[in-house]
Amino acid sequence: MDYRRTYLRDLFNLAPGSKTSAYGWIKTRRDSKTVHFVQLSDGSTFQDLQVVIPEGLLSEAVLKTLTTGASVRFDGEIVQSPGENQPIELLASGAEVYGPADPAEYPLQKKGATMEFLREIGHLRGRGNTFGAVFRVRNAAADAIHQFFQKRGFNYINTPIITASDAEGAGAMFQVTTLVGHEETKDGLRYKLDKTDPAEDFFGKPSYLTVSGQLEAETLALGLTNVYTFGPTFRAENSNSARHLAEFWMVEPEMAFCSLEGNMNLAEEFLKEVIATVMERCPKDFEFFNQRIEPTLFETLNHVVNSPFERLTYTEAVKMLEASGESFEFPVGWGTDLQSEHERWLTEKKVGRPVILTDYPKEIKAFYMRQNEDGKTVRAMDVLAPRIGEIIGGSQREERLDVLEARIKELGLPIEAYWWYLDLRRYGSVPHAGFGLGFERLLMYITGMKNIRDVIPYHRTPGSAEF
Ligand code: ATP
Ligand code: MN
Repeated sequence: MDYRRTYLRDLFNLAPGSKTSAYGWIKTRRDSKTVHFVQLSDGSTFQDLQVVIPEGLLSEAVLKTLTTGASVRFDGEIVQSPGENQPIELLASGAEVYGPADPAEYPLQKKGATMEFLREIGHLRGRGNTFGAVFRVRNAAADAIHQFFQKRGFNYINTPIITASDAEGAGAMFQVTTLVGHEETKDGLRYKLDKTDPAEDFFGKPSYLTVSGQLEAETLALGLTNVYTFGPTFRAENSNSARHLAEFWMVEPEMAFCSLEGNMNLAEEFLKEVIATVMERCPKDFEFFNQRIEPTLFETLNHVVNSPFERLTYTEAVKMLEASGESFEFPVGWGTDLQSEHERWLTEKKVGRPVILTDYPKEIKAFYMRQNEDGKTVRAMDVLAPRIGEIIGGSQREERLDVLEARIKELGLPIEAYWWYLDLRRYGSVPHAGFGLGFERLLMYITGMKNIRDVIPYHRTPGSAEF
């Protein structure tokens, strides 16, 4: 058995009459008087291979093990299929079962299993239609993201996962420590605090799992010009929402000699190209998502790919919202952060295509965003898309040393901790910009899946670290 053996995906391109072998797991089995039908899948494509087994070819003992979930190799010949669901099928001349799956026990055979149940059997769900499609699309999207940046000369960098600076204040952090041990007590497992001085901790000071690679990415952009990260980030947010994970993957490009305009152009090109590339690469998966998961999928994705994004300032958007006459759950007013109902109204109802909002009040954005002359707003941008609202957040960064220092002090942040970040402004500073995109949020958008737990193999959320 060689890893280079043919995938089922490739068998569909073989001419009738070709002799071949097909490896995979049985999805379903059906019997008639003269033949047995097996639907076989190896995850290489959405389309199952139909295998036709003439009565009498296999012993009763082997036939009995050809049940849902069993892994098997069929040898045979490609023939034109009289059925409507597939162009070709495999007429079997032999079979070898590698691993049977007792039909009385195999968990993944119920039709119409709920997403919640499938999460409980996360180790098996990749064999089904939905999760096969989700993870093929996840793979295609990751590849498309790398290609997008590589074609444009961006350097892929890896920023630290463990960090000692709560740099961005982007969210609650997980602490990393070796000072806490475990002990078995009569009440069960208990934490044991060995030492209390942070100086004695592993890194000699309190350290955390990173919430973003941005600040470190900025340091490398101011040397390599264009860089991007694509890695795991962590947030100890105690929210059980369908859009938040404690561990998720983030894409963060950063560009030197670049203003907010360039940043908006990159974000727009990025979404268009990644979505178009993935749709082209996984047409059958998208047909499935559009039919079974989200009926407006093609419509909204084609919209993103084909229409120019509208660009508005936050102030203009707030005026539109105030004049809308809609009754929103959360009130709108200049200075408040927009909620996703507001974002969706803007992009779906008011503008009818994706919108990039810029120049937000500085109070609701991070300290590092470049201040405008009005003294009230910063060069922030959020990209809003129909059906989901915010999908990308970014900004032009403050490159002026005095302005940045003043803002850090004004916010009461520990200025000593930012010494290296400030050095970038002290020596060879340059206008620069970048954005962050949550990879799982993008995947929810392009697959139509409703819960972020269902676009990552194993989700990390409050109370859940299974598998
Ligand atoms: P939200 O308001 O949705 O919590 P945020 O403003 O905290 O998002 P940022 O700090 O701007 O998000 O992070 C950049 C991107 O990371 C977001 O646009 C989003 O796509 C993604 N993201 C943020 N928090 C999470 C999370 N807990 N799980 C998954 N993705 C997330
Ligand atoms: Mn958040």
